[in-house]
Amino acid sequence: MSDTSASRHIHRRGLLLVLSSPSGAGKSTISKRMLALDANLSMSVSVTTRAMRPGEVDGKDYHFIDKAEFEARVTRRELLEHAQVFGNYYGTPRGPVEESLRAGRDVLFDIDWQGTQQLAESAADDLVRIFILPPSASELERRLTTRAQDSAEVIAQRMSKANDEMSHWSEYDYVIVNEDVETSVAAVQSILLAERLKRRRQVGMSDFVRSLQVGK
Ligand code: 5GP
Repeated sequence: MSDTSASRHIHRRGLLLVLSSPSGAGKSTISKRMLALDANLSMSVSVTTRAMRPGEVDGKDYHFIDKAEFEARVTRRELLEHAQVFGNYYGTPRGPVEESLRAGRDVLFDIDWQGTQQLAESAADDLVRIFILPPSASELERRLTTRAQDSAEVIAQRMSKANDEMSHWSEYDYVIVNEDVETSVAAVQSILLAERLKRRRQVGMSDFVRSLQVGK
């Protein structure tokens, strides 16, 4: 892009894009596709006290920490939001998110309704909330029961958590029924584009418009 392009002049504040869903609705596939497609979007890597699953990478999927360290971070106010899910603690590190917002980069969050409510209190202007629903109860059940690494007890917990999570759908700005991943990804891209173009996010626009007003 050349130095005279508009995007060089119009500074935009980044936004917080939250994707929530019951587990098994296809959210992580949609997140991965969005990150691959959009260079201005990065994932917020949460801290958690839960055990690492096979295939997960510390620092990439989560920062895996113990409960004492988690509590210390809460006390030091280093987490933007935090919640207990399935008996484990999860939280969003504050520093990387604030840095991205300032630099005009957008941040994608895979957090639950509790964390989303906290972000709505602390960062309402920057927040865009999308809820992903599975296409049917049978499909949700199929996806929840075919996660090989989880025990029967964990699956039962997930089903009850899924019902709880879905009861919060109406607290979100957008709702997508995930019938087909590519269609859902296109929907998330459209939402992101429209939200980026919102006037209040384009904080450098008045200077740019002045520069267009020749003769002034
Ligand atoms: P999992 O243990 O399967 O990776 O995640 C369990 C649940 O915790 C998911 O619903 C996920 O969205 C949620 N979660 C992951 N990280 C965070 C976080 O930092 N904050 C909150 N509030 N929820 C999180």
